[in-house]
Order: sequence, then structure tokens, then C-alpha cells
Amino acid sequence: MRKRADLSADGIRELIRRFIAASPQNTMKNENEDPAWDDALVGFASGADPIWQQYKEYVGPFHWTPWEVFSQHCPETPAKAEELTVISWVLPQRETVRRANRRAKKYPAEEWARIRVYGEEFNAALRRHVADRLRQAGHAAIAPMLVPNWTVVKSARFSYASSWSERHAAHAAGLGTFGLCDGLITAKGKAMRVGSVVARISIKPTLRPYSDHRAYCLYFADGTCGKCIDRCPAHAITKSGHDKEKCRRHLVRSREYVKKTYRFEGYGCGLCQVGVPCEAGIPVKAAREALEQGKLPPPPPPLA
Ligand code: SF4
Ligand code: SF4
Repeated sequence: MRKRADLSADGIRELIRRFIAASPQNTMKNENEDPAWDDALVGFASGADPIWQQYKEYVGPFHWTPWEVFSQHCPETPAKAEELTVISWVLPQRETVRRANRRAKKYPAEEWARIRVYGEEFNAALRRHVADRLRQAGHAAIAPMLVPNWTVVKSARFSYASSWSERHAAHAAGLGTFGLCDGLITAKGKAMRVGSVVARISIKPTLRPYSDHRAYCLYFADGTCGKCIDRCPAHAITKSGHDKEKCRRHLVRSREYVKKTYRFEGYGCGLCQVGVPCEAGIPVKAAREALEQGKLPPPPPPLA
């Protein structure tokens, strides 16, 4: 008889870690078939968390709440927002991949470009795996990034934005805060990729150990750093933030470089994610210590 799946918070963390450890899809597809990933941070957010409505105001009305995406794609299993949980994970880049990209000056290292393509293919497989396991155990589930109507739209505030942002889901699930370059700084740093699944399951939300959505970035904490500005070969980061359009154009240019230099269809950059104080951890000492000691700040104000 098949063993009943443990779908507690710890059980889901274990499900994700086991898939990373055992799946043949976890590969960079390089000569040695090195794994793309070796670890994950996992957090949970309630479908009824007011932060989802704040995202509608901050990112745009096109950004789905968990209830909206779930209701569209699981109509046979009606659920109230409070019956839903967003399961979010962070896949930190491995040290060898970060080290390689630290040396890059204009276009990504081969390792980084491989992760951007094949590591993300694994991330998609992980989304399917988590959603499948939940469904098999009787919990309707959907991976918002994999639904056919997920889209990118023009946004007055952000040039463009998507109907579901994995980084915003991770922020809601207590996994990190935004940096000057727009990346999400997590306990394992900013060099990472993120994924999520929305499910009809009750799991205690992870408390957000920050009172401000930029608490882990040195620039916003005390006006120092700005190292990501210097790392960006496209001059897409300034003290005013991240110019998504300049960044996008550089990513388009990287395709040709990756094909010509590494001989595969790929792209990427991520130079602002390495060789910076937030590469592999939280650089703001007080915030890092608060997280390590399990101290929680007062409830966060609305996003501004
Ligand atoms: S490099 Fe410095 S300024 Fe840029 S996101 Fe990281 S901590 Fe913030
Ligand atoms: S990904 Fe590359 S182009 Fe985009 S902001 Fe970072 S360093 Fe600049």
C-alpha cells in the first residue's frame, strides 16, 4: 500500500528537498551532469493574507491573488481565500555557479546561463511535482507560472510586470525582501530562483521576519553599498532603482553571446546578483541577527 504523503509544513519541505536530491531532471546538462540545485528554502502564506490585495495596488490590478488563479484553474473545487495556502520556495545558486558568474564582466558565465535554462526547467518540474503530489493526496493545487494564461503586461510603474510574480509570492511567504536592483534578498542571498504552488490546504503561514519590504538591502537600510549599480553592464541600475527595459534589452543581447560562445540556446545575466554583499546572505546585520534569533518586528506597514 502506498504510504500516505506527509503534507505538513515539514512534510512539504521534505518533499521538495527529496525531489532536488533524487530527480534526474536536476541537472545543468553540462559534461559532468552536475546538479543545478542542492538546497531550498520553503515558506507558506495564507490565501487570505492582505498582502495579496496590496500587490494589486502596488504591482497592478492584473496581478492575481491566490484565490483568483486558483478559482480560474480549479473551478471544480471551489474554495475561499482563507482555505488556500501559497507554498513558495527559493533555490539558492550553488557556490560554483556564483563563483563563475562573479568573474563575468558583460555576459553570463556558462554555468549561470545553463542554470537560467536547465535549472529553470527543473524548477518547472518541481512546480508540477509539488502540485501533483498535493492533488494525489486530495488537495487541489495549481502552479501559477505554469497556467496558460500567465502573461506579462505593460505596467506604468514597472515598465512591464506579470500576472503572478514568484518573487512577490516568496516575499509574502516570509522568504525575503527586495533590493535596489529589484532582486529578492533571502537568507541564502539574492543569487537564486523561486517557485510556487497555490493549494487548497491549511498550513500555518510563515511569519515575515521583516517590517519593511526592503529591510535586507544595505542601500535602503543605511544608504551604503550600491554595489549592484557597478556590477550591471547595461547601466540598468541606479540609485533610483532598476530599469527593466534596459535589463531586458541586455538579456536579449546575451542570447547571441551564449549561442556563439557556449553552443547552446540560452541566455541570462545575473551579474548584479554576484560579487555583491547580498549574493549569498542578508548583508544588513540587524536584520540577519533578528532572523537568526527568531525575533519578529511589528506588523509591516502597507507597501509604498
Ligand atoms: S548590492 Fe547592495 S545595494 Fe544592491 S541590492 Fe545588494 S545590498 Fe542592496
Ligand atoms: S540582470 Fe544584468 S542587465 Fe539586468 S540589472 Fe542585473 S546586471 Fe543589469
